[in-house]
Amino acid sequence: MNAPIYLDYAATAPVDPRVAEVMSRHLTMDGTFANPASRSHMPGWLAEQAVEGARRQVADLIGADPREIVWTSGATEADNLALTGFMRANRDRGRHLVTSTIEHKAVVDTATALEADGFEVTWLTPGADGRITPSQLADALRDDTALVSLMAVNNELGSIHDLPALAEVAHAHGAMLHVDAAQAAGKMALDVATMGIDLMSLSAHKVYGPKGIGALYVRRHPDVRVEALIHGGGHERGMRSGTLATHQIAGMGEAFALAQSQLEEDRAHAETLRARFLDGLDDLEAVHHNTDIHVAIPNIVNLAFDGVDGESLLMALRQLAISTGSACNSASVEPSYVLKEIGVPRRRALSSLRFSFGRFTTLTDIDTAIEELRHAVVALRQ
Ligand SMILES: *Cc1c(COP(=O)(O)O)cnc(C)c1O
Repeated sequence: MNAPIYLDYAATAPVDPRVAEVMSRHLTMDGTFANPASRSHMPGWLAEQAVEGARRQVADLIGADPREIVWTSGATEADNLALTGFMRANRDRGRHLVTSTIEHKAVVDTATALEADGFEVTWLTPGADGRITPSQLADALRDDTALVSLMAVNNELGSIHDLPALAEVAHAHGAMLHVDAAQAAGKMALDVATMGIDLMSLSAHKVYGPKGIGALYVRRHPDVRVEALIHGGGHERGMRSGTLATHQIAGMGEAFALAQSQLEEDRAHAETLRARFLDGLDDLEAVHHNTDIHVAIPNIVNLAFDGVDGESLLMALRQLAISTGSACNSASVEPSYVLKEIGVPRRRALSSLRFSFGRFTTLTDIDTAIEELRHAVVALRQ
């Protein structure tokens, strides 16, 4: 059996070979392996230089100052630090947080934990296009709202939030804006200054970097206060302790530099892939677009194949590596909470699959996927 065609880039992307090459130079005795916090010798200084170079590369992609980048183990930790760290440090501003019901679990579960801890959370439900409107946000804001957390791009739908408009509303009410940009970095232009973003979560592995490394952007002017969740040597301006993972960080830096230098190329490629994919399925009956492609990145398309069970379709499509976006446990298959929240009926949600493309997806991959899909859908409907 050939290796399946990988169409699950929203779950994770393969490491770009250019990134792997850079990482390999930061591991062994003849490489930059030392502890970046070792101030007493040359190997330590070289490791620190590598880390600081990567910090600049990550900052550059989002228009930040390198001093505003705090390394974390991924976007999950960055979301935890942003929400919990900010709410704890800013109790004097208020105990109210506003977020949405279709955030990544890293935000949803952190906000739920904050609720249990005595903070108050308002949960906004998006429209069918997967977006919260500025007026919806305005209605939810209160005098004691300290933070708003909304994702840049949804991981199941690909829908893009109008961040500048949402930031303006949040700031007008004296609240700060946290944005989970794990799916947005490298897929669309991001600029924290012009977009008005105060905290931003980033992950390397959705951008052709390694898993296990990410960052939180923490605005310095005006100063955004965040309380550490992980205590230790006081690394990262006291916000996140732990020996810096030089090879991971160098990899993330290279991945973000590549994302910046070929942003347009990557975007155009994804658009070509999506157009070909949707075109190839155009005459297949009863295919419903869960993704509103007019407000989405081209890398993610969520489709429902009415009358076909998503799990059975997945089984029939063993040659494609794709996902339902649904959380399975042994007893039952629950439809995706994201689809439910945007109003997709349960039956249709259970017939839905998420396809996500990337830098290494070819037109031949797309053509094969179309063929397999058409065949499987027609067979299962009979
Ligand atoms: C993947 C993802 C995360 C989690 O990132 P990790 O680096 O794997 O912890 C968080 N938010 C969104 C939107 C994601 O897509």
